[in-house]
Amino acid sequence: MSRIQILPDLLVNKIAAGEVIERPASIVKELVENALDAGSSNIIVTIEDGGKRLIRVVDDGIGMSAEDLRLAVTPHATSKITCEEDLFKIATLGFRGEALASIGAVSRLRITSRPRDQIEGNEIVISAKHLETAQAAGCRTGTSVEVRDLFFNVPARRKFMRATATEVGHINEQVARMALGHRSVGFELTNNQRTTHRLAADSSIRDRIGALYGADLADELIPIERDERGLRIEGYVAPPARSRSTASWQYVFLNGRYIRDRSVQHAIREAYRGLMEHQRFPVAFLFLTMDPELVDVNVHPCKLEVRWQNSQLVHSQVLSALRDKFLTSNLAPTLRAGENAPSSRFEFDPQKAADVRREAADYYKGLVPSPMGSPIQATYEGRDFGPTIGTRPGMRPSDIRSDVWDSMHGGGQPDQPETRLPADDMPTELPQIKGYRALQVHNSYLVAETSDGLVIIDQHALHERIMYERLKAQFTEGPLESQRLLMPETLTASATDMALLQEHEELLAKLGVEANAFGEDQIAVHSFPSLLKDIDAAAFMRDLLDRLGDQHTQTSTEEVIHEVLDMMSCKAAVKAGDALTTEEIAALIEQKGEIEKSSNCPHGRPTTLSLSVDELEKQFKRK
Ligand code: ADP
Ligand code: MG
Repeated sequence: MSRIQILPDLLVNKIAAGEVIERPASIVKELVENALDAGSSNIIVTIEDGGKRLIRVVDDGIGMSAEDLRLAVTPHATSKITCEEDLFKIATLGFRGEALASIGAVSRLRITSRPRDQIEGNEIVISAKHLETAQAAGCRTGTSVEVRDLFFNVPARRKFMRATATEVGHINEQVARMALGHRSVGFELTNNQRTTHRLAADSSIRDRIGALYGADLADELIPIERDERGLRIEGYVAPPARSRSTASWQYVFLNGRYIRDRSVQHAIREAYRGLMEHQRFPVAFLFLTMDPELVDVNVHPCKLEVRWQNSQLVHSQVLSALRDKFLTSNLAPTLRAGENAPSSRFEFDPQKAADVRREAADYYKGLVPSPMGSPIQATYEGRDFGPTIGTRPGMRPSDIRSDVWDSMHGGGQPDQPETRLPADDMPTELPQIKGYRALQVHNSYLVAETSDGLVIIDQHALHERIMYERLKAQFTEGPLESQRLLMPETLTASATDMALLQEHEELLAKLGVEANAFGEDQIAVHSFPSLLKDIDAAAFMRDLLDRLGDQHTQTSTEEVIHEVLDMMSCKAAVKAGDALTTEEIAALIEQKGEIEKSSNCPHGRPTTLSLSVDELEKQFKRK
């Protein structure tokens, strides 16, 4: 007997099914995609037991004739493409013609359908690939597809289905993606007789995001729009303080299809560079529209990835769309009494904050007359306007159960407190500091009066941000100004360090660093960037080599450069605890104006908190 055999059809189908149908959510995806391709305006998804017992998708689309119904469940039967050329201009979500056949091979599948122009519909029932029923049936126009007992005939796969809540989470996510991509369509999702999503047809992007992820997030979003060189980009991005610990909050759509794309993700990260820490990921909802002939969607089993004809174009357009917007937006977190302060990464020492508050109160005693002679200080202490760490219930919409929500988003509470940034505050001007006067408190913070209130500045974060901008500007123009050391400084180096030294010779020269191998295991540093004048050259070189060697964080030369500039600016900046002279304070505040583009230093900490007179007046019950 030969070792190699041709597999029976049934098995082939099961194998193929394994590719597209990993779990209930993949079925929901395929069925809803079909409903969308059929031009439906309302789609109702019903699941029971996480889709393991039942998945039903009912649509009001074009429907199928008796003949089409029989064909629809046949492998490689599709109405969406007819020849090879069609594969390169796909405008529908489906095109492979295998979903229904694959589903029919691993479940009990029942479809009823009625085209709009017929008075009667038809029904077909398939059980593990066997045709059980095909008959006329009374039904509404459109199509209803029911999948029961998924994997009942494939125990190995059935075993791999996860807890119901997990599967529900995946289904929610799939429905959310398709609903975001198709806002003209109404959606309803019912899980075990409870309707968890009800999304109105003809929603705006913002409304749909709000309905799915909460008005809290939707209200803060920054609109993005660009239409150039054949690529239209629209959508929203969230302020940096909304960052997440994974990229899964980046929803990118191409012609209505949810996609995962490295170049778009990279462009988003680039746009936020300097606005958040390296391990954080921006939240974005971007909808790309382009001629389907300029992109290949037939490259991934789940149609999740695409191949651009010109990925450079996509990258640069997304990057510019976001950057242009950020340059004209106020990304500064606004401090509001009674609400959570901007960021948990704002290193917070309650004792210190209380002291700062007291000093701020003292400072402003002269400016704000205390009402009825009551001690203003006590009022300040009674109010919590300092950066407090706390969590809000997160963005979970009230109609989605928390376990469902958690399983959808990797569990637990949102990974940082959410910041309130009212939409109407978004593109406003930053508060202008009056003159260059500020009070330094605890050798760490500067308190200054602004045109409409006051700001509290983190001196290190601000200076670091200033240094970063300066270094970047200098670096772009040519090599950084460098100063020669009187005596070369040496450091012990490994073979890897030596290799890095050679490999990055050019970059080091641009950074104003001159260093060479000295003996077998030493590196000598001869010149050093002038901006870093007070820093230990050997320690700097050590850190620099470590950064250059860290492959995990870097994917491109550009990224390496930013890493290094980040590090340099951190080292060059004044520290918390450094006493500053009046002149130094004035200089810092003056330079603040130059970098007002955003309020976060390269490591993502906010540099400035602001409190308006309006807010103060509310606090003191003047309003
Ligand atoms: P594909 O979507 O790749 O064409 P499917 O197996 O998902 O393959 O569906 C096969 C065919 O069945 C489709 O091409 C379409 O003509 C028809 N079909 C499937 N679902 C529906 C639906 N909900 N409404 C109308 N026609 C449908
Ligand atoms: Mg399909």
